Amino acid sequence: MHVTTYDCTLRDGEQCEGITLSLEDKLRIVERLDAFGIDIVEGGFPASNPKDIAFFERVRTLPLRHARIAAFGSTCKKGVAAREDQGLADLLGSGAPVVTIVGKTWDAQVTRALQTSLEENLRMIADSVAYLKEQGRYVVFDAEHFFDGYKANPAYALACVRAAADAGADSVDLCETNGGALPFEVQEIVAAAAAELPSTQLGIHCHNDSGCAVANTLAAVRAGVRQVQGTVNGIGERVGNTDLLTVIADLELKMGAHCVGGDALRELTGVSQFVAECCNVSVSAHHPYTGSSAFAHKGGLHASAIARFPEAYEHARPESVGNTARMLVSELAGKASLTAKAATLGVDLAAHPGKDQEILDDIKAREARGYSYETADGSLGLLLQRHLGLHRPHFTLESFRVIVDDREDSGALAKDAQSEATIKVHVGSHRLVATGEGVGPVGALDSALRLAITPFYPTLSTMELVDYKVRILDENIGTDAITRVVITTSDDEGTWGTVGVSENIIEASWNALVDSIEYGLVRAGVVPL
Ligand SMILES: [Zn+2]
Repeated sequence: MHVTTYDCTLRDGEQCEGITLSLEDKLRIVERLDAFGIDIVEGGFPASNPKDIAFFERVRTLPLRHARIAAFGSTCKKGVAAREDQGLADLLGSGAPVVTIVGKTWDAQVTRALQTSLEENLRMIADSVAYLKEQGRYVVFDAEHFFDGYKANPAYALACVRAAADAGADSVDLCETNGGALPFEVQEIVAAAAAELPSTQLGIHCHNDSGCAVANTLAAVRAGVRQVQGTVNGIGERVGNTDLLTVIADLELKMGAHCVGGDALRELTGVSQFVAECCNVSVSAHHPYTGSSAFAHKGGLHASAIARFPEAYEHARPESVGNTARMLVSELAGKASLTAKAATLGVDLAAHPGKDQEILDDIKAREARGYSYETADGSLGLLLQRHLGLHRPHFTLESFRVIVDDREDSGALAKDAQSEATIKVHVGSHRLVATGEGVGPVGALDSALRLAITPFYPTLSTMELVDYKVRILDENIGTDAITRVVITTSDDEGTWGTVGVSENIIEASWNALVDSIEYGLVRAGVVPL
Protein backbone atom coordinates (compact mmCIF):
# COMPACT_ATOMS: atom_id res chain seq x y z
CA MET A 1 0.00 0.00 0.00
CA HIS A 2 1.41 3.36 -1.02
CA VAL A 3 0.29 6.40 0.95
CA THR A 4 1.13 9.86 -0.39
CA THR A 5 2.42 12.43 2.10
CA TYR A 6 1.24 16.03 2.02
CA ASP A 7 2.92 18.53 4.34
CA CYS A 8 1.09 21.65 5.59
CA THR A 9 3.81 22.99 7.92
CA LEU A 10 4.38 26.17 5.96
CA ARG A 11 0.68 27.09 5.81
CA ASP A 12 -1.37 25.47 8.61
CA GLY A 13 1.68 24.90 10.81
CA GLU A 14 2.67 28.53 10.71
CA GLN A 15 -0.76 29.39 12.15
CA CYS A 16 0.64 28.07 15.44
CA GLU A 17 0.75 30.71 18.14
CA GLY A 18 4.30 31.91 18.69
CA ILE A 19 5.74 30.53 15.45
CA THR A 20 6.82 32.61 12.50
CA LEU A 21 8.96 31.34 9.68
CA SER A 22 11.16 33.60 7.61
CA LEU A 23 11.32 33.14 3.85
CA GLU A 24 14.75 31.51 4.22
CA ASP A 25 13.40 29.15 6.90
CA LYS A 26 10.58 28.12 4.58
CA LEU A 27 12.92 27.40 1.71
CA ARG A 28 15.22 25.36 3.94
CA ILE A 29 12.24 23.38 5.23
CA VAL A 30 11.15 22.65 1.65
CA GLU A 31 14.63 21.35 0.81
CA ARG A 32 14.73 19.17 3.91
CA LEU A 33 11.24 17.72 3.31
CA ASP A 34 12.16 17.09 -0.31
CA ALA A 35 15.29 15.18 0.70
CA PHE A 36 13.22 13.22 3.24
CA GLY A 37 10.79 12.12 0.51
CA ILE A 38 7.62 14.11 1.24
CA ASP A 39 5.45 14.07 -1.89
CA ILE A 40 3.66 17.44 -1.72
CA VAL A 41 4.72 20.50 0.27
CA GLU A 42 2.11 23.22 0.64
CA GLY A 43 3.62 26.68 0.35
CA GLY A 44 0.78 28.96 1.40
CA PHE A 45 -1.49 31.52 -0.22
CA PRO A 46 0.37 32.90 -3.23
CA ALA A 47 -1.24 36.34 -2.99
CA SER A 48 -1.81 36.90 0.70
CA ASN A 49 1.36 38.86 1.43
CA PRO A 50 4.68 39.81 -0.17
CA LYS A 51 6.52 37.06 1.75
CA ASP A 52 4.32 34.35 0.22
CA ILE A 53 4.63 35.85 -3.26
CA ALA A 54 8.42 35.87 -2.86
CA PHE A 55 8.29 32.29 -1.59
CA PHE A 56 6.68 31.01 -4.79
CA GLU A 57 9.21 32.90 -6.89
CA ARG A 58 12.18 31.53 -4.97
CA VAL A 59 10.91 27.97 -4.54
CA ARG A 60 10.71 27.59 -8.33
CA THR A 61 14.49 27.94 -8.46
CA LEU A 62 15.19 25.16 -5.93
CA PRO A 63 16.41 21.93 -7.52
CA LEU A 64 13.87 19.64 -5.85
CA ARG A 65 14.29 15.96 -6.63
CA HIS A 66 10.98 14.59 -5.45
CA ALA A 67 8.54 16.98 -3.75
CA ARG A 68 5.97 19.03 -5.63
CA ILE A 69 4.94 22.43 -4.32
CA ALA A 70 1.28 23.21 -3.72
CA ALA A 71 -0.32 26.65 -3.77
CA PHE A 72 -3.29 26.89 -1.43
CA GLY A 73 -6.47 28.91 -1.88
CA SER A 74 -10.25 28.76 -2.12
CA THR A 75 -12.78 27.90 -4.80
CA CYS A 76 -13.96 30.82 -6.92
CA LYS A 77 -16.22 33.36 -5.23
CA LYS A 78 -20.01 33.06 -5.34
CA GLY A 79 -21.48 34.52 -8.51
CA VAL A 80 -18.07 34.60 -10.25
CA ALA A 81 -17.00 32.25 -13.03
CA ALA A 82 -13.83 30.31 -12.22
CA ARG A 83 -11.95 31.77 -15.21
CA GLU A 84 -12.75 35.28 -14.00
CA ASP A 85 -11.85 34.67 -10.36
CA GLN A 86 -8.85 36.64 -9.09
CA GLY A 87 -8.02 34.08 -6.37
CA LEU A 88 -7.76 31.24 -8.88
CA ALA A 89 -5.69 33.46 -11.18
CA ASP A 90 -3.26 34.06 -8.31
CA LEU A 91 -3.01 30.33 -7.64
CA LEU A 92 -2.18 29.68 -11.29
CA GLY A 93 0.18 32.64 -11.36
CA SER A 94 2.25 31.13 -8.55
CA GLY A 95 3.52 28.54 -11.02
CA ALA A 96 3.04 25.77 -8.45
CA PRO A 97 2.44 22.39 -10.10
CA VAL A 98 -0.14 21.45 -7.45
CA VAL A 99 -3.11 23.63 -6.62
CA THR A 100 -5.13 22.89 -3.50
CA ILE A 101 -8.48 24.58 -3.15
CA VAL A 102 -10.66 24.48 -0.11
CA GLY A 103 -14.45 24.39 -0.51
CA LYS A 104 -17.39 24.12 1.80
CA THR A 105 -19.23 20.82 2.33
CA TRP A 106 -21.36 21.60 5.39
CA ASP A 107 -24.81 22.90 4.37
CA ALA A 108 -25.09 25.33 7.30
CA GLN A 109 -21.66 26.82 6.42
CA VAL A 110 -22.86 27.41 2.88
CA THR A 111 -26.12 29.11 3.80
CA ARG A 112 -24.98 30.95 6.94
CA ALA A 113 -21.27 31.72 6.56
CA LEU A 114 -21.03 31.92 2.79
CA GLN A 115 -24.65 33.13 2.41
CA THR A 116 -25.33 31.45 -0.85
CA SER A 117 -27.43 28.55 -2.10
CA LEU A 118 -26.43 24.91 -1.85
CA GLU A 119 -26.56 24.68 -5.68
CA GLU A 120 -24.25 27.67 -6.14
CA ASN A 121 -21.69 26.11 -3.77
CA LEU A 122 -21.70 22.92 -5.88
CA ARG A 123 -21.21 25.06 -9.00
CA MET A 124 -18.27 26.89 -7.38
CA ILE A 125 -16.55 23.59 -6.53
CA ALA A 126 -17.09 21.96 -9.92
CA ASP A 127 -16.28 25.07 -11.95
CA SER A 128 -13.07 25.78 -9.99
CA VAL A 129 -11.73 22.23 -10.16
CA ALA A 130 -12.55 21.89 -13.86
CA TYR A 131 -10.86 25.21 -14.69
CA LEU A 132 -7.67 24.36 -12.77
CA LYS A 133 -7.56 20.95 -14.48
CA GLU A 134 -7.93 22.65 -17.86
CA GLN A 135 -4.88 24.71 -16.91
CA GLY A 136 -2.89 21.52 -16.43
CA ARG A 137 -2.53 21.50 -12.65
CA TYR A 138 -2.61 18.59 -10.23
CA VAL A 139 -5.69 19.53 -8.21
CA VAL A 140 -6.36 18.67 -4.59
CA PHE A 141 -9.82 19.52 -3.28
CA ASP A 142 -9.85 20.14 0.49
CA ALA A 143 -13.36 19.38 1.71
CA GLU A 144 -13.68 21.79 4.63
CA HIS A 145 -15.73 20.63 7.64
CA PHE A 146 -16.48 17.38 5.82
CA PHE A 147 -17.05 15.37 8.99
CA ASP A 148 -19.31 17.91 10.69
CA GLY A 149 -21.04 18.43 7.37
CA TYR A 150 -21.58 14.71 6.93
CA LYS A 151 -23.05 14.42 10.42
CA ALA A 152 -25.47 17.30 9.67
CA ASN A 153 -26.42 16.41 6.11
CA PRO A 154 -24.68 13.35 4.65
CA ALA A 155 -26.29 13.61 1.21
CA TYR A 156 -25.09 17.20 0.71
CA ALA A 157 -21.57 16.58 2.04
CA LEU A 158 -21.24 13.66 -0.37
CA ALA A 159 -22.68 15.74 -3.23
CA CYS A 160 -19.90 18.31 -2.66
CA VAL A 161 -17.06 15.80 -2.86
CA ARG A 162 -18.73 14.14 -5.83
CA ALA A 163 -18.83 17.52 -7.60
CA ALA A 164 -15.05 17.87 -7.07
CA ALA A 165 -14.36 14.31 -8.19
CA ASP A 166 -16.57 14.52 -11.27
CA ALA A 167 -14.86 17.76 -12.28
CA GLY A 168 -11.54 15.89 -12.28
CA ALA A 169 -9.92 16.54 -8.87
CA ASP A 170 -6.82 14.34 -8.54
CA SER A 171 -7.32 13.95 -4.82
CA VAL A 172 -10.31 14.75 -2.63
CA ASP A 173 -8.99 15.39 0.87
CA LEU A 174 -11.52 15.19 3.68
CA CYS A 175 -10.85 17.84 6.33
CA GLU A 176 -11.66 17.37 9.99
CA THR A 177 -11.52 21.12 10.39
CA ASN A 178 -12.70 21.50 13.99
CA GLY A 179 -10.56 18.65 15.26
CA GLY A 180 -13.26 17.21 17.48
CA ALA A 181 -14.03 13.88 15.76
CA LEU A 182 -13.09 10.49 17.15
CA PRO A 183 -11.42 7.63 15.25
CA PHE A 184 -14.48 5.38 14.95
CA GLU A 185 -16.53 8.27 13.47
CA VAL A 186 -13.76 9.13 11.02
CA GLN A 187 -13.44 5.53 9.89
CA GLU A 188 -17.19 5.25 9.32
CA ILE A 189 -17.54 8.56 7.46
CA VAL A 190 -14.46 7.99 5.30
CA ALA A 191 -15.87 4.57 4.38
CA ALA A 192 -19.07 6.29 3.22
CA ALA A 193 -17.06 8.74 1.09
CA ALA A 194 -14.99 5.88 -0.35
CA ALA A 195 -18.17 4.04 -1.29
CA GLU A 196 -19.50 7.19 -2.98
CA LEU A 197 -16.24 7.82 -4.89
CA PRO A 198 -14.74 4.37 -5.53
CA SER A 199 -12.38 5.55 -8.26
CA THR A 200 -11.17 8.81 -6.72
CA GLN A 201 -8.09 9.15 -4.51
CA LEU A 202 -9.13 10.33 -1.05
CA GLY A 203 -6.98 12.18 1.45
CA ILE A 204 -7.33 13.22 5.07
CA HIS A 205 -6.53 16.44 6.97
CA CYS A 206 -7.03 16.43 10.74
CA HIS A 207 -6.63 18.75 13.70
CA ASN A 208 -5.82 17.52 17.16
CA ASP A 209 -8.46 19.20 19.33
CA SER A 210 -9.75 15.91 20.72
CA GLY A 211 -6.24 14.50 20.95
CA CYS A 212 -7.00 12.11 18.08
CA ALA A 213 -5.44 13.66 14.97
CA VAL A 214 -2.94 10.85 14.43
CA ALA A 215 -5.47 8.17 15.37
CA ASN A 216 -8.08 9.74 13.09
CA THR A 217 -5.60 9.85 10.22
CA LEU A 218 -4.71 6.17 10.66
CA ALA A 219 -8.40 5.26 10.90
CA ALA A 220 -8.98 7.13 7.64
CA VAL A 221 -6.20 5.15 5.95
CA ARG A 222 -7.81 1.91 7.13
CA ALA A 223 -11.06 3.11 5.57
CA GLY A 224 -9.45 3.77 2.19
CA VAL A 225 -7.65 7.12 2.24
CA ARG A 226 -4.34 7.19 0.31
CA GLN A 227 -3.07 10.72 0.97
CA VAL A 228 -2.24 11.96 4.48
CA GLN A 229 -1.90 15.62 5.36
CA GLY A 230 -0.15 16.93 8.44
CA THR A 231 2.59 19.16 9.80
CA VAL A 232 6.05 18.38 11.14
CA ASN A 233 5.83 17.88 14.92
CA GLY A 234 2.08 18.52 14.68
CA ILE A 235 2.41 22.30 14.92
CA GLY A 236 -0.68 24.28 14.02
CA GLU A 237 -3.34 26.58 15.37
CA ARG A 238 -5.09 25.79 18.68
CA VAL A 239 -3.66 22.42 19.77
CA GLY A 240 -2.15 21.62 16.41
CA ASN A 241 -2.53 19.47 13.30
CA THR A 242 -1.85 15.83 12.66
CA ASP A 243 1.81 15.14 13.32
CA LEU A 244 2.83 13.97 9.87
CA LEU A 245 6.06 12.39 11.13
CA THR A 246 4.27 10.22 13.69
CA VAL A 247 1.77 9.18 11.02
CA ILE A 248 4.56 8.26 8.61
CA ALA A 249 6.34 6.16 11.25
CA ASP A 250 3.11 4.41 12.25
CA LEU A 251 2.17 3.71 8.64
CA GLU A 252 5.61 2.43 7.71
CA LEU A 253 6.41 0.45 10.85
CA LYS A 254 3.00 -0.81 11.91
CA MET A 255 0.64 -0.77 8.94
CA GLY A 256 2.94 -2.02 6.24
CA ALA A 257 2.46 1.10 4.13
CA HIS A 258 5.09 2.83 2.01
CA CYS A 259 5.41 6.60 2.49
CA VAL A 260 9.07 7.61 2.39
CA GLY A 261 10.67 4.15 2.68
CA GLY A 262 12.69 2.52 5.44
CA ASP A 263 16.01 4.21 4.64
CA ALA A 264 14.51 7.70 4.68
CA LEU A 265 12.62 6.86 7.86
CA ARG A 266 15.94 7.02 9.69
CA GLU A 267 15.88 10.75 8.95
CA LEU A 268 12.66 11.15 10.96
CA THR A 269 14.27 12.43 14.16
CA GLY A 270 16.58 14.71 12.21
CA VAL A 271 13.68 16.24 10.26
CA SER A 272 11.75 16.75 13.49
CA GLN A 273 14.68 18.57 15.11
CA PHE A 274 15.50 20.56 12.01
CA VAL A 275 12.00 21.99 11.63
CA ALA A 276 11.78 22.68 15.37
CA GLU A 277 15.04 24.63 15.08
CA CYS A 278 13.65 26.66 12.20
CA CYS A 279 10.57 27.40 14.35
CA ASN A 280 12.87 28.32 17.25
CA VAL A 281 11.32 25.74 19.56
CA SER A 282 12.55 22.45 20.97
CA VAL A 283 11.03 19.10 20.11
CA SER A 284 9.14 17.98 23.21
CA ALA A 285 11.23 15.39 25.03
CA HIS A 286 8.13 13.18 25.11
CA HIS A 287 7.32 13.50 21.41
CA PRO A 288 6.48 10.10 19.87
CA TYR A 289 9.41 8.56 17.96
CA THR A 290 11.53 11.75 17.79
CA GLY A 291 11.64 13.11 21.36
CA SER A 292 14.77 12.64 23.43
CA SER A 293 12.76 10.61 25.96
CA ALA A 294 10.97 8.52 23.33
CA PHE A 295 13.35 5.62 23.95
CA ALA A 296 14.68 6.58 27.38
CA HIS A 297 14.69 4.07 30.22
CA LYS A 298 14.91 4.88 33.86
CA GLY A 299 15.29 2.58 36.80
CA GLY A 300 17.76 -0.25 37.25
CA LEU A 301 15.30 -3.01 36.42
CA HIS A 302 14.20 -1.66 33.01
CA ALA A 303 17.70 -0.63 32.11
CA SER A 304 19.26 -4.02 32.77
CA ALA A 305 16.38 -5.92 31.14
CA ILE A 306 16.44 -3.78 28.03
CA ALA A 307 20.04 -4.64 27.31
CA ARG A 308 18.95 -8.30 27.00
CA PHE A 309 15.43 -7.95 25.54
CA PRO A 310 14.74 -4.52 23.99
CA GLU A 311 11.26 -5.48 22.74
CA ALA A 312 10.14 -5.68 26.36
CA TYR A 313 10.13 -1.90 26.70
CA GLU A 314 10.46 -0.54 23.16
CA HIS A 315 7.50 -0.49 20.75
CA ALA A 316 9.83 0.16 17.82
CA ARG A 317 13.59 0.13 17.28
CA PRO A 318 14.90 3.64 17.98
CA GLU A 319 17.42 3.42 15.13
CA SER A 320 14.59 2.79 12.63
CA VAL A 321 13.54 6.43 13.12
CA GLY A 322 17.01 7.83 13.72
CA ASN A 323 16.61 8.12 17.47
CA THR A 324 18.68 6.40 20.14
CA ALA A 325 17.85 4.49 23.27
CA ARG A 326 18.99 6.29 26.38
CA MET A 327 19.56 5.00 29.87
CA LEU A 328 18.68 7.61 32.42
CA VAL A 329 20.93 7.86 35.41
CA SER A 330 19.05 8.71 38.56
CA GLU A 331 19.15 8.13 42.26
CA LEU A 332 17.39 4.83 41.58
CA ALA A 333 19.97 3.61 39.16
CA GLY A 334 22.24 0.73 39.93
CA LYS A 335 25.54 -0.46 38.48
CA ALA A 336 23.88 -2.23 35.56
CA SER A 337 22.21 0.91 34.22
CA LEU A 338 25.33 3.00 34.81
CA THR A 339 27.38 0.52 32.77
CA ALA A 340 24.75 0.51 30.00
CA LYS A 341 24.57 4.32 30.06
CA ALA A 342 28.36 4.63 29.95
CA ALA A 343 28.41 2.37 26.91
CA THR A 344 26.07 4.73 25.03
CA LEU A 345 28.57 7.51 25.75
CA GLY A 346 31.43 5.43 24.40
CA VAL A 347 32.90 4.53 27.81
CA ASP A 348 33.56 0.87 28.66
CA LEU A 349 33.18 0.72 32.43
CA ALA A 350 33.88 -3.01 32.52
CA ALA A 351 37.46 -2.20 31.57
CA HIS A 352 37.85 -0.26 34.81
CA PRO A 353 36.93 -2.71 37.56
CA GLY A 354 35.81 -1.18 40.84
CA LYS A 355 35.29 2.28 39.34
CA ASP A 356 31.52 1.87 38.96
CA GLN A 357 30.84 2.13 42.69
CA GLU A 358 33.06 5.19 43.03
CA ILE A 359 31.26 6.89 40.15
CA LEU A 360 27.80 5.98 41.45
CA ASP A 361 28.71 7.41 44.87
CA ASP A 362 29.87 10.63 43.22
CA ILE A 363 26.69 10.88 41.11
CA LYS A 364 24.52 10.34 44.19
CA ALA A 365 26.43 12.98 46.14
CA ARG A 366 26.05 15.43 43.26
CA GLU A 367 22.35 14.67 42.85
CA ALA A 368 21.93 15.47 46.53
CA ARG A 369 23.53 18.87 45.82
CA GLY A 370 21.09 19.57 42.97
CA TYR A 371 22.71 18.05 39.88
CA SER A 372 20.56 16.05 37.52
CA TYR A 373 22.11 14.07 34.71
CA GLU A 374 18.94 12.93 32.99
CA THR A 375 19.18 15.59 30.32
CA ALA A 376 22.90 16.22 30.75
CA ASP A 377 24.67 13.46 28.87
CA GLY A 378 27.54 15.81 28.14
CA SER A 379 28.28 16.51 31.79
CA LEU A 380 27.88 12.84 32.63
CA GLY A 381 30.30 11.85 29.87
CA LEU A 382 32.88 14.27 31.23
CA LEU A 383 32.30 13.06 34.80
CA LEU A 384 32.98 9.47 33.70
CA GLN A 385 36.11 10.48 31.85
CA ARG A 386 37.40 12.45 34.82
CA HIS A 387 36.92 9.49 37.16
CA LEU A 388 38.70 7.17 34.76
CA GLY A 389 41.58 9.58 34.25
CA LEU A 390 40.75 9.92 30.55
CA HIS A 391 39.98 13.62 30.47
CA ARG A 392 42.39 16.40 29.54
CA PRO A 393 40.78 19.86 29.52
CA HIS A 394 40.89 21.89 26.31
CA PHE A 395 41.17 25.13 28.29
CA THR A 396 41.34 26.32 31.89
CA LEU A 397 39.80 29.41 33.42
CA GLU A 398 41.88 31.98 35.25
CA SER A 399 38.99 34.36 36.00
CA PHE A 400 35.90 36.00 34.56
CA ARG A 401 33.93 39.13 35.23
CA VAL A 402 30.43 40.03 34.02
CA ILE A 403 28.89 43.49 33.91
CA VAL A 404 25.15 43.95 33.35
CA ASP A 405 24.40 47.47 32.22
CA ASP A 406 20.89 48.87 32.51
CA ARG A 407 20.38 52.33 31.05
CA GLU A 408 16.75 52.85 31.99
CA ASP A 409 15.57 53.54 35.49
CA SER A 410 12.35 51.57 35.13
CA GLY A 411 12.82 49.16 38.01
CA ALA A 412 13.34 46.28 35.62
CA LEU A 413 16.09 45.52 33.16
CA ALA A 414 15.38 47.29 29.92
CA LYS A 415 14.89 45.12 26.84
CA ASP A 416 18.10 46.45 25.38
CA ALA A 417 20.14 45.94 28.55
CA GLN A 418 23.58 44.82 27.48
CA SER A 419 25.85 42.42 29.28
CA GLU A 420 29.58 42.40 28.89
CA ALA A 421 31.90 39.60 29.99
CA THR A 422 35.66 39.55 30.20
CA ILE A 423 37.39 36.22 30.63
CA LYS A 424 40.97 35.10 31.10
CA VAL A 425 41.65 31.54 30.00
CA HIS A 426 44.62 29.34 29.23
CA VAL A 427 44.89 27.08 26.19
CA GLY A 428 48.08 25.04 26.36
CA SER A 429 50.81 27.60 27.03
CA HIS A 430 48.73 30.55 25.74
CA ARG A 431 47.05 33.00 28.08
CA LEU A 432 44.06 34.71 26.47
CA VAL A 433 41.94 37.66 27.50
CA ALA A 434 38.70 38.33 25.64
CA THR A 435 35.62 40.45 26.04
CA GLY A 436 32.22 39.49 24.66
CA GLU A 437 28.79 41.08 24.63
CA GLY A 438 25.31 39.62 24.80
CA VAL A 439 21.76 40.45 25.79
CA GLY A 440 22.27 38.40 28.94
CA PRO A 441 25.30 37.48 31.04
CA VAL A 442 25.41 33.91 29.74
CA GLY A 443 25.37 35.03 26.12
CA ALA A 444 28.18 37.47 26.94
CA LEU A 445 30.27 34.75 28.62
CA ASP A 446 29.62 32.40 25.72
CA SER A 447 30.77 34.95 23.16
CA ALA A 448 33.86 35.91 25.19
CA LEU A 449 34.88 32.29 25.63
CA ARG A 450 34.37 31.57 21.94
CA LEU A 451 36.34 34.65 20.92
CA ALA A 452 39.23 33.46 23.07
CA ILE A 453 39.45 29.81 22.11
CA THR A 454 37.86 29.36 18.66
CA PRO A 455 41.17 30.18 16.92
CA PHE A 456 42.64 27.10 18.63
CA TYR A 457 39.57 24.93 18.16
CA PRO A 458 37.81 25.99 14.93
CA THR A 459 35.29 23.10 15.35
CA LEU A 460 33.62 25.34 17.94
CA SER A 461 32.07 27.43 15.19
CA THR A 462 29.77 24.50 14.29
CA MET A 463 28.43 24.33 17.84
CA GLU A 464 25.47 26.39 18.86
CA LEU A 465 23.81 26.94 22.19
CA VAL A 466 20.18 26.03 21.44
CA ASP A 467 18.48 26.03 24.80
CA TYR A 468 19.14 27.39 28.25
CA LYS A 469 17.03 26.46 31.24
CA VAL A 470 17.24 27.72 34.77
CA ARG A 471 15.55 26.09 37.73
CA ILE A 472 15.57 27.34 41.29
CA LEU A 473 15.70 24.21 43.42
CA ASP A 474 14.71 25.37 46.86
CA GLU A 475 12.71 28.53 46.82
CA ASN A 476 12.13 28.44 50.56
CA ILE A 477 15.69 29.42 51.37
CA GLY A 478 15.34 32.71 49.50
CA THR A 479 18.49 34.05 47.93
CA ASP A 480 20.53 31.07 49.10
CA ALA A 481 18.45 28.80 46.91
CA ILE A 482 20.38 26.47 44.65
CA THR A 483 20.24 27.22 40.94
CA ARG A 484 20.47 24.47 38.35
CA VAL A 485 21.24 25.47 34.79
CA VAL A 486 20.86 23.05 31.89
CA ILE A 487 22.25 24.04 28.52
CA THR A 488 21.51 22.22 25.27
CA THR A 489 24.08 22.52 22.53
CA SER A 490 24.04 21.15 19.03
CA ASP A 491 26.35 20.71 16.10
CA ASP A 492 25.93 19.04 12.70
CA GLU A 493 26.01 15.61 14.35
CA GLY A 494 23.49 15.98 17.15
CA THR A 495 22.67 17.60 20.48
CA TRP A 496 23.90 17.19 24.03
CA GLY A 497 22.95 18.60 27.40
CA THR A 498 25.15 19.84 30.21
CA VAL A 499 24.38 20.90 33.75
CA GLY A 500 25.79 23.37 36.26
CA VAL A 501 24.74 23.91 39.87
CA SER A 502 25.58 26.75 42.22
CA GLU A 503 24.06 29.22 44.62
CA ASN A 504 25.07 31.79 42.03
CA ILE A 505 23.25 31.69 38.69
CA ILE A 506 26.23 33.03 36.76
CA GLU A 507 28.53 30.40 38.19
CA ALA A 508 25.99 27.64 37.51
CA SER A 509 25.67 28.91 33.94
CA TRP A 510 29.44 29.10 33.49
CA ASN A 511 29.88 25.50 34.67
CA ALA A 512 27.19 24.25 32.27
CA LEU A 513 28.73 26.33 29.48
CA VAL A 514 32.25 25.00 30.05
CA ASP A 515 30.95 21.42 30.04
CA SER A 516 28.96 22.10 26.87
CA ILE A 517 32.05 23.27 25.00
CA GLU A 518 34.41 20.67 26.54
CA TYR A 519 32.03 17.84 25.72
CA GLY A 520 31.39 19.17 22.22
CA LEU A 521 35.13 19.13 21.55
CA VAL A 522 35.51 15.65 23.07
CA ARG A 523 32.59 14.36 20.95
CA ALA A 524 34.13 15.83 17.83
CA GLY A 525 37.42 14.11 18.64
CA VAL A 526 39.36 17.37 18.99
CA VAL A 527 42.67 16.80 20.79
CA PRO A 528 43.44 19.35 23.54
CA LEU A 529 46.44 21.62 22.94
ZN1 LIG B 1 -6.18 22.74 8.79
